[in-house]
Amino acid sequence: MPLPSNTLRIAVLPGDGIGTEVTAATIAVLEPLAKRHGIGLAYEELRAGAFCYRDTGTAMSEETFESAAKADAILLGAMGWPEIRTEDGTEIAPQLDLRFRLNLYAGVRPFRALPGVPVALADPRARDIDLVIVRESTEGLFFSRDRGTVTHDMAEETLRITRGVTEKLARFSFGLAQQRAARRGRQGTVTLVDKANVFRAFAFMRGIFAEVAASYPDVAHGAHYVDAMALDLVRKPWAFDVLPTENMFGDILSDLGAGLIGGMGFAPSADIGDTHAVFQPAHGTAPDIAGTGIANPTATILSAAMMLDWLAGKGAGQAYADAAAELDAAVDAAFASGLRTADIGGQDGTAAAAKAVAARIGSAP
Ligand code: ATP
Ligand code: MG
Repeated sequence: MPLPSNTLRIAVLPGDGIGTEVTAATIAVLEPLAKRHGIGLAYEELRAGAFCYRDTGTAMSEETFESAAKADAILLGAMGWPEIRTEDGTEIAPQLDLRFRLNLYAGVRPFRALPGVPVALADPRARDIDLVIVRESTEGLFFSRDRGTVTHDMAEETLRITRGVTEKLARFSFGLAQQRAARRGRQGTVTLVDKANVFRAFAFMRGIFAEVAASYPDVAHGAHYVDAMALDLVRKPWAFDVLPTENMFGDILSDLGAGLIGGMGFAPSADIGDTHAVFQPAHGTAPDIAGTGIANPTATILSAAMMLDWLAGKGAGQAYADAAAELDAAVDAAFASGLRTADIGGQDGTAAAAKAVAARIGSAP
């Protein structure tokens, strides 16, 4: 049956473990939201991940990849399972293939303290944490994935930074800082996180950021060494806005960021390229709690809000941006009025959390 012309196709890849649980919860929240805003979302569920590999011999078939690539956006749960590995012993991670094959260079990871959710720092200013790590996701040290050389006596991996990708990453980061500035009513700041004091590749990266910065005079711009940033993210995370960085640094700092604001269950993410984007929680499949019904769906719900906002930016219309803002607000309102998921010591499971958020849709002032 043909879809109505204003309906967007969302490829849903639930994946493994709690990935399937948090995506189901998220779709349950999107349904009333879509109805209220008059937006059409048609979901196409696709199978990929570790259990798919076990059952079919491939983690993501070519057909699945193509269907996902043809969709207007991709919503992904999480993939991988400790006991299911490829023949060479590496993890099953088709989500990494999506990043590389679709050129999703900007890994956007917002970290925001939600009302009522405990933060890791006692300083009251920690309630103002609202920063975004932009992790370059196609090169850096991950360029070396599957390419490193290992002999009996030596192992070697390659760090690659290219001008083309770095320029795109920089423009993306400055653009994001402008959008956030408009929303928050204050000047945006881009702080590149690197190790330019030791590696030429990072001095090269700094140079490119400085060139691009010239086109964004309204955005403040600086750079910080990654070791100093690790310290400052614990000492004064409220001081930062947009933090673009190399792939591996972004991987590590993202977990630190999640730790600041309540844990992995609160960390959404988007992998964005020029034409495609994948939205998924920053966490993994959590085998330790899979099947128990206590996974926190918040990270995935917030990722879905990012998806709606991205679709709006791609021309889907203001209704999508409004729906995104309302979904964010509904999450805030649910936690502000007592929702307590198990990962922060509460009693609310996956379905209860989704229900609490859905109940806030349509009740905004
Ligand atoms: P990956 O390799 O994919 O990054 P990981 O091994 O780092 O995965 P996660 O699956 O992210 O690990 O889980 C790390 C810890 O956080 C586990 O103890 C898990 O139970 C917990 N956790 C992760 N996501 C959630 C969630 N949504 N709700 C509650 N707890 C979670
Ligand atoms: Mg991890």
